[in-house]
Amino acid sequence: MEFENLDGYTMYGIKEKYAKLAKDSEEKLKLVFDEIDDIALYNQAKVLKAFQNNRISEVHFKKTTGYGITDYGREKIDDTYAEIFNTQKALVRIQFVCGTHTIATVLQALLMPNDTLLTITGRPYDTILETIGIVDNPLSLKNYGVKYDEIDLTEDNDFDIPKIVDYLKNNKVKVVHIQRSRGYSLRNALTIDKIEKVIKEIKAVDKDVIVMVDNCYGEFVEKREPTDVGADILCGSLIKNPGGGLCETGGYICGREDLINLCAIRLTCPGINAEEGATLGQNKNILQGLFMAPSTVKNAIKSAILAASMMEELGFETFPNAFEKRSDIVQVIKLESPEKLEKFMQGVQASSPVDSHVVPVASEMAGYEDKIIMAAGSFVEGATIEFGADGPMRPPYVAYMQGGLTYEATKLSICFAIQKMMEN
Ligand SMILES: *Cc1c(COP(=O)(O)O)cnc(C)c1O
Repeated sequence: MEFENLDGYTMYGIKEKYAKLAKDSEEKLKLVFDEIDDIALYNQAKVLKAFQNNRISEVHFKKTTGYGITDYGREKIDDTYAEIFNTQKALVRIQFVCGTHTIATVLQALLMPNDTLLTITGRPYDTILETIGIVDNPLSLKNYGVKYDEIDLTEDNDFDIPKIVDYLKNNKVKVVHIQRSRGYSLRNALTIDKIEKVIKEIKAVDKDVIVMVDNCYGEFVEKREPTDVGADILCGSLIKNPGGGLCETGGYICGREDLINLCAIRLTCPGINAEEGATLGQNKNILQGLFMAPSTVKNAIKSAILAASMMEELGFETFPNAFEKRSDIVQVIKLESPEKLEKFMQGVQASSPVDSHVVPVASEMAGYEDKIIMAAGSFVEGATIEFGADGPMRPPYVAYMQGGLTYEATKLSICFAIQKMMEN
């Protein structure tokens, strides 16, 4: 019967072999997916309650321009974020250009000349190196006289607690920086359990140390956030997880009131603080995106796990593997050959909703030593809560992929990309 051919995989040009691979993987992943659903339900409850407690209304969607002095929505958004992240205060602004800008704002707000910044997750994310002064910049913290040190993670991807404790006993540290997500490394994200344990150890040595967490890619992946387990301040991008795919730009910082006040001064200027800043009609996107975020993040994680499982079945190595506990939305797959990496990226691009007709090729990029190949067909430029992938053209030819607004679309894209890679 023709009726029996109404199959989504077939409709999309996915061959029986790869459709079966996806279906078999889903079968194997049932219990894992149940756990992801459970986390999403918990986070949705948390978000929904915060909206109700803060009495979000249509009036808060109102557009403001100019100084944005009477922007009631902006203040409500701050309060709602603060409740969800369990902090005294929050600063959610479209004036943050990206996630890097939020991290830089925190560091620049909290560190004065002769203060020490200590990172305990090794070398931080590439884009923050110039702010610290690891890579030269005339306005780096280093040039302002801020001291910097870093402690690497252990071989088995955990905090080096003896080394950290020893350092804190012998040096006065103002800010400890933790990067939750992997960045461009093969290490897995640090779980909230691990973050909780290290913060306890840090505070036992020196209760005044400010612990800040780069929370990029981590929001709503677990039931608890770093600020639920003792972090003083955290930050991230609105075109990643907490924007739910609807935010068009911006970033957030949540934390202790005195620290957030300093960040507001740093973002605007002394005297203006958090009291001004037009929202240009973005409040509805920020609120609706936040409302969607637990579900969007769930879709992204399930997609990542499905991709891991299918690729493992085909003999590739994955980080994390399909059954490992996750604390970010990033999936890494070792493809082992330049042709496979190129075909996989082209498959991802060709199955995007936007710019599907564009063929990505590897090219030089500022700040990177090797050529990079990128696939991104997103509604919001560069938004990585939307499905996309990239990888440096060097052994072991690793694909970093993340995002996925809907599970169905991302599953089809993954099947398509795998098929393109395997059939070439
Ligand atoms: C994305 C990301 C950032 C910030 O990047 P932007 O592109 O500036 O938003 C910082 N740290 C980590 C770990 C990230 O994944």
